[in-house]
Amino acid sequence: MNEEDKTISELGEFGLIRHLTQDIRLKNPGTLKGVGDDAAVLDYTGKLVVVTSDMLLEGIHFNLMYTPMKHLGYKAVVSNISDLYAMNAIPKQIIVSLAFSKKLTLKQIENLYAGIKLACDNFNVDLAGGDTSTSLTGMAISITALGEGEKERLVYRSGAKKNDLICVTGDLGAAYLGLQLLEREKKIFLENPEIEPQLEGYDYVLQRQLKPEPRADIIEFFRENNVSPSAMIDISDGLSSEILHICNESKTGCKLFAEHIPVNQEAENLAAEFNITPIVAALNGGEDYELLFTISPGEFVKIKDNKNIKTIGHITDRENGHHLITSDGTFIPLQAQGWDTFENITDK
Ligand SMILES: [Mg+2]
Repeated sequence: MNEEDKTISELGEFGLIRHLTQDIRLKNPGTLKGVGDDAAVLDYTGKLVVVTSDMLLEGIHFNLMYTPMKHLGYKAVVSNISDLYAMNAIPKQIIVSLAFSKKLTLKQIENLYAGIKLACDNFNVDLAGGDTSTSLTGMAISITALGEGEKERLVYRSGAKKNDLICVTGDLGAAYLGLQLLEREKKIFLENPEIEPQLEGYDYVLQRQLKPEPRADIIEFFRENNVSPSAMIDISDGLSSEILHICNESKTGCKLFAEHIPVNQEAENLAAEFNITPIVAALNGGEDYELLFTISPGEFVKIKDNKNIKTIGHITDRENGHHLITSDGTFIPLQAQGWDTFENITDK
């Protein structure tokens, strides 16, 4: 029997791992040993090792009803390496641990791995090990990402200073709106499976939700132009939570200006359909995987011509608090609000 025609149980755990990883070629000279031994062996001579881990659970972080396996694999890698970029580090290896129910077919797991491998190729990362197990309660994907950094280049949340400019990459809120769209169509489908999902014309928000891209390009831009952010974080839980993380760690306040917060036009149109204020989706949505950083005013000249970076406010003394300032000059206190607790907030 051809290996392609076998089921997962026929392959067995070790057969499955071999099947999924046999075509992996190591890209980084620092990955001395990858998959195939008891542990990976990594060489970080002279560099600092930056490590992060993230777990995705079916029903909590993803819904297999509308998440293609390949996208899920890609996004699982992205959400991890985005955290390394947020430290101004370069991702080098990932370790993938997976638990899945016996209902899944070999093809589905292959598709998941196709997404994982595509992200590894796009961001020059080695899949260097992991574990697989069966689950009785749905799928779980846990990824640990390792990367390298130089002591003088790493950027922490704690380095923001008064008068530093607050900058953000790309645009915000679209991934959250993409999720609202998928949830709406899922609900309609469950009530009436005859009705075809209405997803045309929403490519951008769907891509932002299903296949987000981490900002490797910005980290490269920083290196090429010698930009040194004073603090940085990636936006996984919404702008509001993330700027508060920077301010808490840096012991500062902040002012954000609503009219400068970038929102994509398609996202704005969809927000109107859902009766959500676009800026609320940007502040309290999530999963944008953009970078939020602060720089001293003297560094502004280095970033001002980059169209992917917008200045949205500045750092203040802690006593001044944390505010969003609307176009009519109203001060609104910022609140930490992860996207999973955010529901039904409208501009009514
Ligand atoms: Mg993060």
